[in-house]
Amino acid sequence: MISCPCGCLPSLSRRGFFATALAASAFPAAAFAADPAPAADPGLIDDIVTANHILYDQGVVDGFGHVSARHDKDPNRYLLSRSMAPALVTAGDIMEFDLDSNAIDARGRTPYLERFIHGEIYKVRPDVMAIVHSHSPAVLPFADTYVKLLPMNHIAGFLGAGPPVFEIRAGAGAATDMLVRSNAIGKALATTLGSSQVALMRGHGSVAAAQSVKHVVFRAIYTEVNARTEIQALSIGKPTFLNDKEAAAAMKTNDGLVERPWALWKQRVASK
Ligand SMILES: [Zn+2]
Repeated sequence: MISCPCGCLPSLSRRGFFATALAASAFPAAAFAADPAPAADPGLIDDIVTANHILYDQGVVDGFGHVSARHDKDPNRYLLSRSMAPALVTAGDIMEFDLDSNAIDARGRTPYLERFIHGEIYKVRPDVMAIVHSHSPAVLPFADTYVKLLPMNHIAGFLGAGPPVFEIRAGAGAATDMLVRSNAIGKALATTLGSSQVALMRGHGSVAAAQSVKHVVFRAIYTEVNARTEIQALSIGKPTFLNDKEAAAAMKTNDGLVERPWALWKQRVASK
C-alpha cells in the first residue's frame, strides 16, 4: 500500500496509485498495461519450475511442451516459462501473461508460440489453476486414430468417459503447422476441452487441466501411463474400463492424494 505523504489521499494499492497518477499525466494508457501485478508467491514459481523438471523426468515433455499456473494474486494473469526446454527452466525464466497471452514484462524473453493454449483455457475455466501441454508419445495414437482413451485403473479416473479430441482443421483449415499459435485456435481448443480434465489434439499431443500445479502434473503423467497400459491391453484382448461412476469416485479420492507422488517425483529431480 502507498500513502500520499501530505495526507490528501487515502492509502492506495500500488496499482491504484499508478492508475491515479497516470490518469492525471500525459502517459499513454499502454504504459499502465505493463504494470506488473503484485509478485506471485515464490512457492508457486518454485512449483512451476519443479513441475517442468518432473514432466521431463517422467517422459511427458522433451525439448517441447510446457506447464503454466494461474497467477495467485490476479486471476486474469498466468505464469509460464519463456520458450525453452522444460528440463532447463529456472525461476528467472517464468514470465507473466494476461489472458490474451500478452507478456506483461518480457524483458527480452521470447514466449512460447503456443501460449494461447493456456490463456484461452484460463478464460473459460475459472476452476483451472494449472495447465500442461505436451506431445507425450503414448497418447498420440489415441489422438490420431480416435480410439477412445479410457481409464484403465483408478489412478486415471480423471479421464472420465474419455478425453475429447481437438481437430484443428475444423476451425483453422487443413494447411496449418498444427500449432496453437493464436487466440482463435486456443479458444477452439478450450471449447473442445469443455469441462473435461484432458483433451487430445489430433496430429499434435494433448492438454491437461487441474486445480493446482501438483494435480495437473499428476494428470499429465497418468494420461501418458494410462495410454501405455491401454495399448498393451488392446494388444491382448478387450479391456474393461472404469465406468463413469467409478471414474468420478476414483478421481475424487486421488485428488486428495497428489502430495504423495509429487514428493517422490520432486525428490528424484532434486537428486539429479
Ligand atoms: Zn505443442
